Amino acid sequence: MRAHGTHFLQIPGPSPVPPEVLAATSRQVIDHRGPAFGELGRKVLGDIKSVFKTEHDVVIYPSSGTGAWEAALVNCLSPGDRIATFETGHFASLWNRLAGRLGLDPVTIGSNWRAGVDPDVVEDALRKDKNHEIKALCVVHNETSTGSTTRLEEIRKAIDAAGHPALFVVDTISGLCSADLRMDEWGIDVVVAGSQKGLMLPPGLSFNAVGPRALKASESAGLKRSYWDWAEMIAANKTGYFPYTPATNLLYGLSSVLDRLLEEGLDTVFARHERHAEATRRAVQAWGLENLCESPRHYSPVLTTVMMPEGHSADAYRKVVLEKFNMSLGSGLSKVADKVFRIGHLGDINDLTLTGALAGCEMGLELVGVPHQRGGVDVAMSYLRETA
Ligand SMILES: *Cc1c(COP(=O)(O)O)cnc(C)c1O
Repeated sequence: MRAHGTHFLQIPGPSPVPPEVLAATSRQVIDHRGPAFGELGRKVLGDIKSVFKTEHDVVIYPSSGTGAWEAALVNCLSPGDRIATFETGHFASLWNRLAGRLGLDPVTIGSNWRAGVDPDVVEDALRKDKNHEIKALCVVHNETSTGSTTRLEEIRKAIDAAGHPALFVVDTISGLCSADLRMDEWGIDVVVAGSQKGLMLPPGLSFNAVGPRALKASESAGLKRSYWDWAEMIAANKTGYFPYTPATNLLYGLSSVLDRLLEEGLDTVFARHERHAEATRRAVQAWGLENLCESPRHYSPVLTTVMMPEGHSADAYRKVVLEKFNMSLGSGLSKVADKVFRIGHLGDINDLTLTGALAGCEMGLELVGVPHQRGGVDVAMSYLRETA
């Protein structure tokens, strides 16, 4: 059956792309060794630093976020190096697995799918590591599988309190431009990010923002690397070019989206996400359903994960919502498969998009017979109206 109207893409990434950004990506391809490209390269490589709040180099790869995960590890670590991870959910555990496949020695220092990383656990694990065998601490900023956001400034403090030299490596693939991140202020050594979530671009670009300690470590790091090598990239980037063919059209989009975000101002961007997140949480609470994140300090501005009452299938529910209302909701991943659904409130959306999305969620609950209270959408609307 043919769908009508606009599809509601309410998954927590890829997220809806602003029309003018999409239009920018459809411009004719140019010579990536020519002068026009150099100008584009210098502009985006300069502007991108603002969204990481860094003065250091940001490497741009033509890859998904997973590639940038690998890049971060192979550039600054050696075979057998121990890294510490905290399992906040599916993505944190996938990153840990990737590290193991690369020949690193990943250890999980804690696990909680219902909150962000606990700084006390980090401090304790680092204090116990007297011989400094842990070479890097890898933390997911916004855990997209659960909807909890780690307070990175607290993690920095925990590392400092333990007096540990481990590199602080952060995945903000879904957090970039939707949850505040201050690379330099918070002493983050490598930030891993992607294009298709908070940054509101199509999938296909990823990033490594590289701090001085990580760059230094890369000079002697022993893991094999070629395509992901920072040194060649950073050298070519000095003049705005890339060592291999860049994703020209996505870079047009990047230039356009950065103009838009920097014009709006990052604080306004973050406040916009917080407000939509709060409206969503109020709707969920009014329905009488539970947020998977049970720690209010870690509520995500990017997405809200809703737990299905026992005996009800989240996937069956999402299928009905898609078929009846032309809306995609995020599925539960691995441990919480079929038990939760995720509402993304990121990307190019506004109050009415969100209200429409919540209306679709509420009608879906009724249609599949999930026990709930009606009126969540009204509660969200009241909040949006009062804070308009
Ligand atoms: C989406 C996501 C990834 C994986 O990124 P891909 O672009 O799918 O490779 C990793 N970590 C987090 C937190 C994510 O949200």
